Amino acid sequence: CGIVGYVGSPVASARPLDVVLEGLRRLEYRGYDSAGVALVAPGRELATAKKAGKLANLVEEIDAHPLPDSTAAIGHTRWATHGGPTDVNAHPHVAGRLAVIHNGIVENFAALKAGLLADGVEFLSETDTEVAAHLIARAYDETGDLTAAMARVARSLHGTFTLLAVHADDPSTVVGARHDSPLVVGIGEGENFLGSDVAAFIAHTREALELGQDQVVTITPDDVVVTDFDGAPADARRYTVDWDAAA
Ligand code: GLU
Repeated sequence: CGIVGYVGSPVASARPLDVVLEGLRRLEYRGYDSAGVALVAPGRELATAKKAGKLANLVEEIDAHPLPDSTAAIGHTRWATHGGPTDVNAHPHVAGRLAVIHNGIVENFAALKAGLLADGVEFLSETDTEVAAHLIARAYDETGDLTAAMARVARSLHGTFTLLAVHADDPSTVVGARHDSPLVVGIGEGENFLGSDVAAFIAHTREALELGQDQVVTITPDDVVVTDFDGAPADARRYTVDWDAAA
């Protein structure tokens, strides 16, 4: 339902976790039943926290089990479509050292899941989203490139999706993709943002890029690269958010 992504260099002004939690708060108006975050940092394991219920439940969980500092983070508020609103079904979904969050519905998840199960992949949740996590992790293992992995999997999914992924092996990168579901980039200095809408990052920047249909975006602290699902360079509309969202 609500999606936030952040990547900063070590000198960036804000801690990634705080940026993502703040973004999720600003997306609360959309409604949700669960929330979660995933963090990556050089030389560290992937760190995640997720909880059914209000954001306050997630914050309580993080206070009880503090997360390490990070260079990149993704955060999600879920509106369940496949699998009840439980802790396990909350996003992010993890496959190895990769974490994924998703808005929308993967219509062909049952067929994809059957293939993965036949290959011995273990599923923890009842969500449609978890297939995307396993598929992107596998594609990453083959390509060593998170952007290429995301594009390959985006081509194979039917339905509607905004997907974000982080991988512990590539801790300065957040990759996103969209099909029939919105994704906006917030452009900062030494830091960049992703959001399901501009409310996710409006506290930090008003310089934005609106991704077009069937695009993949890769953000690092100093760069934003947009391609189509075949990896060819693509254009996204740049604009300044003229919206007084100080509240
Ligand atoms: N279909 C996914 C799920 O049920 C994502 C729902 C959403 O858009 O929040 O977990």
